[in-house]
Amino acid sequence: MEKKRIALLGSTGSIGTNTLEVISRYRERYEVVALAAGSNLALLRQQIREFQPRLVSIRDLDHLEELREEVKPFHGEVIAGMEGLLQVARYEQADMVVSAICGAAGLLPTYEAAVAGKNIALANKESLIMAGGIIMDKAKSMGIQILPIDSEHSAIFQCLLGHNPKEIRRLILTASGGPFLFTPKEEFCKITYQQAIHHPTWSMGEKISLDSATLMNKALEVIEAHWLFNVPVDSIEVVIHPESVIHSMVEYWDGNILALLATSDMRLPILYALSYPERLPLDLPPLDLPRLGTISFHSPDVEKFPCLRLGYEAARQGQTAPAVMNAANEIAISAFKQGRINFCDIPKIIEETLNRHQPVPLREISDALWADRWGRQQARDIIGRLSC
Ligand code: NAD
Ligand code: MG
Repeated sequence: MEKKRIALLGSTGSIGTNTLEVISRYRERYEVVALAAGSNLALLRQQIREFQPRLVSIRDLDHLEELREEVKPFHGEVIAGMEGLLQVARYEQADMVVSAICGAAGLLPTYEAAVAGKNIALANKESLIMAGGIIMDKAKSMGIQILPIDSEHSAIFQCLLGHNPKEIRRLILTASGGPFLFTPKEEFCKITYQQAIHHPTWSMGEKISLDSATLMNKALEVIEAHWLFNVPVDSIEVVIHPESVIHSMVEYWDGNILALLATSDMRLPILYALSYPERLPLDLPPLDLPRLGTISFHSPDVEKFPCLRLGYEAARQGQTAPAVMNAANEIAISAFKQGRINFCDIPKIIEETLNRHQPVPLREISDALWADRWGRQQARDIIGRLSC
């Protein structure tokens, strides 16, 4: 059997390391031909030794020589910077790109992978938030597949198989509710960074953990689902389901709802994105339903979690609004990390940034990059005024 050749963007992160674990289990099927990572050189070194890729890129040019020295006698090429990352994304020897960088930095490489005609296993939801229309159009014109890694979208993808998309009534995205589901609103301003990055059911990177605490992650996922499945945002509903057993659902127009249940382990949707349309065994403990007993559902509280409302509003506005929202969110959470603002300032900064924005059409990828820069500038300005 010919091996599927994988280029992995974000190899040292949470999705990246889980992807490599899955690949290790199936060495006879997958080969890692290229890796791109940020600044965790120690882990990247180990990955280079173990997987022997032919091309490696690191974010900072400053670390390039050090890494080249350290991995000797490595026969592959080591490059750096945004150009290096893009080279990995369009690497000619790769069949599939796993896009698992976090945040807006994932936009260009994801787009480049589509331009180069690579199938994409997509974890980087921000690229679809910023330029979903452009990326999906490019995927269509290149005849490539975008396979979701995000667990909710993997669930929906699976619930859609064998069905007519015209018969969809609603997509129902489940949300654990994050660590502050039961915290009274009055205590939100006292929430610390350490509390906010501690997710109750998933172990993930810092940014997505913070987004889960504000429910911005779910807002991003609504927009991600809108683009991936071509369903209007107002036909996508979010339901809080703290046990995270049902990963999402599809309701058809006759009223039947299909749901996907699985253990909360990202290796499951990662493997499915790599192996689709096949299913491969994974040695995870089976879901023990009797032990679980009951599962529960309720509506999200948008008063407590305004980011969810903001996501729908930005999505309805469309054009550059979601990219601006995403940029403001990234700036706000980094200011929160630095202790410059409170947890409850995060949605305020995003809302104020969106209020200042007059959305314009997104024709090219550069329009999304412009919206990202504009949103960042405005959010920084708003934070500057707040801290005066
Ligand atoms: P993470 O922070 O753990 O990892 C991000 C990786 O990207 C790291 O390897 C980092 O070094 C690298 N990186 C960041 N900026 C870079 C740059 N400019 N150049 C090169 N490398 C860079 O993040 P994560 O939790 O793995 O999430 C990655 C993406 O997957 C996010 O978009 C997130 O929303 C999505 N996602 C994650 C999970 C999860 O369980 N972690 C679940 C669903 C979706
Ligand atoms: Mg998710």
